[in-house]
Amino acid sequence: MASMNASLSSAGAPPSVAVGPVNAFTVDVEDYFHVAALASAVSRDSWHTREYRVERNTERLLSLLEEKGVHGTFFVLGWVAERSPQLIRRIAAAGHEIACHGFSHQLIYRQSREEFRAETARAKGLLEEAIGEAVLGYRAASFSIVRDTLWALDELIDLGFRYDSSIFAIRHDRYGIPDASPAPGAVTAPSGRTLIEFPMAPASFLGLKVPVTGGGYFRIFPYGLTRAGLRRINAAGRPFAFYLHPWEIDPDQPRVRVGTISRFRHYTNLARCESRLRRLLGEFAFCPMGRILSSV
Ligand SMILES: [Zn+2]
Repeated sequence: MASMNASLSSAGAPPSVAVGPVNAFTVDVEDYFHVAALASAVSRDSWHTREYRVERNTERLLSLLEEKGVHGTFFVLGWVAERSPQLIRRIAAAGHEIACHGFSHQLIYRQSREEFRAETARAKGLLEEAIGEAVLGYRAASFSIVRDTLWALDELIDLGFRYDSSIFAIRHDRYGIPDASPAPGAVTAPSGRTLIEFPMAPASFLGLKVPVTGGGYFRIFPYGLTRAGLRRINAAGRPFAFYLHPWEIDPDQPRVRVGTISRFRHYTNLARCESRLRRLLGEFAFCPMGRILSSV
């Protein structure tokens, strides 16, 4: 294997816009059938039989980012890395940072500690093998590092990760630590050791916490609300981490029959997402997450 001495500041070119805090642009590289909102209708055993669309959707994202001169961090699912190592190399060759999104997209609070350790080590190894560099960043499936799974931070430290971006400072049915710090910085694991955390932080409107940093929120809320919220976070002197999935710019993806809430979360405004993203990339400054955290 090639050099493993990557540093937090190694990935990406300078940000494209020079005003205000520079924010982290991130992509969770998984396919539509991996998503937690659809898991009740998509068995894991059927994954390999589903139409595989993550490669072309990721390529479209790469083209858009190149057009806008933006570099980001791609948290790649190990299942995808195993099937498409060439895609991982393509992302890295385009100047983006490669980070880890676990292997199976199982929620951490549905795994034993041993299962988590084994699958995260497997995913990290696949990614490092693909790019020949150390992988330093981690994000859990559906932000599933919550109060009951803080032990995962200790496992991440033991596995050699330098930072995590799995804590969502909000209340939600599937994730969230509502009183977590909204700012990037050290987080203490149960053992007392620390790891750098770049949390997902909501914007505050009249004391009301509104999640505006990507994913379904980005598709469902009007773009003006997202922009106002993100500007508020930057006006408070903090960078935000924005996240998106390749399937969110794919309105033609096969439809899966699920309940009303999951349908709403997964399918709303897929056709509008790419044009919104183009606007967002022109209106805020972005760079890879590791680059920001190298100065925290
Ligand atoms: Zn995910």
